[in-house]
Amino acid sequence: MIRPISLFLLIGLLVANHASAAMHPPKLIWLMVFLLILPIIFIATVQVAKQAKAMLLFATFAVLLSWFVAVYFFSWAIFVQKLTQNMLFVEDFFIVIPAIFWLLALWFVTSPISNRMSWVSHRFRLDIVLLLAPVFFLFAVSDVAVLCGVSEENVEIIELLAFLVLLASAPFFMAKILSAKPMSNYELRSSISDIGKMAGVRRSNILVWNTHNRIMNALAIGAIFQPKTIVLTDKLIANLTQQELRSVTAHEFGHHKYWHIPFLILTTITVMVLSSKVLLLMGFDIGGGFVFLSQLVLMVLAIILVSRIFEKQADAYAAVALSAASGSESITSEGASPLASALGAIAQTQCINPSRKDLLHGSITSRQRDIQALVGCSFSGIPINKQVFFLKIALVVSFLLGILI
Ligand SMILES: [Zn+2]
Repeated sequence: MIRPISLFLLIGLLVANHASAAMHPPKLIWLMVFLLILPIIFIATVQVAKQAKAMLLFATFAVLLSWFVAVYFFSWAIFVQKLTQNMLFVEDFFIVIPAIFWLLALWFVTSPISNRMSWVSHRFRLDIVLLLAPVFFLFAVSDVAVLCGVSEENVEIIELLAFLVLLASAPFFMAKILSAKPMSNYELRSSISDIGKMAGVRRSNILVWNTHNRIMNALAIGAIFQPKTIVLTDKLIANLTQQELRSVTAHEFGHHKYWHIPFLILTTITVMVLSSKVLLLMGFDIGGGFVFLSQLVLMVLAIILVSRIFEKQADAYAAVALSAASGSESITSEGASPLASALGAIAQTQCINPSRKDLLHGSITSRQRDIQALVGCSFSGIPINKQVFFLKIALVVSFLLGILI
């Protein structure tokens, strides 16, 4: 689960580390305008016009954009480097700190719950730490390797090993950062575990994430050799019927059953390897800003494309699991309806327009239509399963091609 705010911060940080992007030498006056004065104005505006819901969105974007302008146009990173005397580890932290500080201030003044600090802590973990903590870990490993005089090729191997360590510990640190706790409702937990067993997950880890009744979401975490974990938010559990909850968890177990997480990781690696080789063959400078940006864009596009197909398969699996639970060998209306109605309930409770297009999932209306269209389809004849089969072959072949050429 990558949140837009943390993705924006990460892109800004990567841009900051590519000194070629900087257009002007750092000027204190402009840095003060973009990192201090403008954010104060944005937050004060939100404080005045608190009732307008769009204001928070506007202020969040304005704070981030203002920081990005300081990074991209006014060499904030170079200023930080001078200030910290190229001190390892702290440099990246200082680059991103103004954006984080103003976001925390914004969440504090716009907290929808009375315990403001608790709300700030929730947003901080979800929108910043979840992505930036592993990224900083990777940066730190790379810095230490360079500091120890490790050769360039070996640094890459060490970075890859650090990435694998992160992947291996992902379910553990994600649960810690989100402060998700094991589900205490025994009846619901065993009902969900049964769905997991049907999907071939013998020992599942079911966690509940307290979002102060703000977010209706479910997540599947854990790749290969890890506990297959399902995280459900408090609001989701409170607002869905037991059968709807079973269908949502079946969707998440679908991600585990069809190895979607390892294949998404493979997608990312394949795009990086293959695009590096192709761009090198075309004569581009691999360390340059253009290659870096095109690889970033390609990676995001590939993840969106593959995710959408995987989401569709997970939706279909939810209908299969619930139909199979009632003894059928083809998708029944009773098997397909709970996920469609769960999606409707989520849209209604969260005030989401059902026809609004979501980048990773498509619109709720289109998902409901696709699920209902499966009624009557035999388990062995589900079209999306065939598409995913060929997609996985294409991914493996592309990965091998990327390594061999
Ligand atoms: Zn999903």
